[in-house]
Amino acid sequence: MNLILLGAPGSGKGTQAELIKKDFKLTHISTGDIFRANIKKNTPLGIKAKEYINEGMLVPDDLVIQLVADRLKQKDCLNGFILDGFPRTEFQADKLGEITKINAVINLDIDLKLLLERLSGRRVCNKCGSTNHINCIKTYLACSCGGSFIQREDDKEETVNDRFRVYEKQTKPLINYYKNKGNLINIEADKLVSEVYKDIKKALESL
Ligand code: AMP
Repeated sequence: MNLILLGAPGSGKGTQAELIKKDFKLTHISTGDIFRANIKKNTPLGIKAKEYINEGMLVPDDLVIQLVADRLKQKDCLNGFILDGFPRTEFQADKLGEITKINAVINLDIDLKLLLERLSGRRVCNKCGSTNHINCIKTYLACSCGGSFIQREDDKEETVNDRFRVYEKQTKPLINYYKNKGNLINIEADKLVSEVYKDIKKALESL
């Protein structure tokens, strides 16, 4: 089963993808995570991507499409995958359609005001990448793996607003794009992680 997770920044794509991955034995591919790993290692891709990411802009299509096309050729994608953060433009969606078949597109539907609060309070472990919210961390800033919870550069308020603008203009049209193709599953994501996942699981099991 090949899936796409659509949703605004902070809608819970990464968290839900990890849950789906475990139950359905799929490979989770997050383009944002791939870029962040490259930035950390200072690779040529990371150096290029950083300029865009820290400004809340999309990395140019040609860089992302090649990256995903190469990743999908790897063995662990043969039994199915979950794309998280890709495609983000209609052009990327068209290209993806040329290289692989997608069985379902899950759209995490959530109020933008709630997202702002979520994103500005989001903290990420600098070692294992797990996420947490400032309200849950309070004074204790250490992760159970020994890392520290820090704020992603692109979760800072001024950048978050730019990311929302980019989402509205370039990524949101993909909801209708996939609705017209007949494989969109809309999930209300304004709920607890476990409740959102229950709805996703039910929808996927009925495919
Ligand atoms: P994410 O973790 O998915 O929110 O991605 C973080 C950032 O990486 C985004 O704000 C973009 O700058 C960049 N990025 C991730 N995926 C894509 C994509 N499919 N196309 C363009 N830029 C992307």
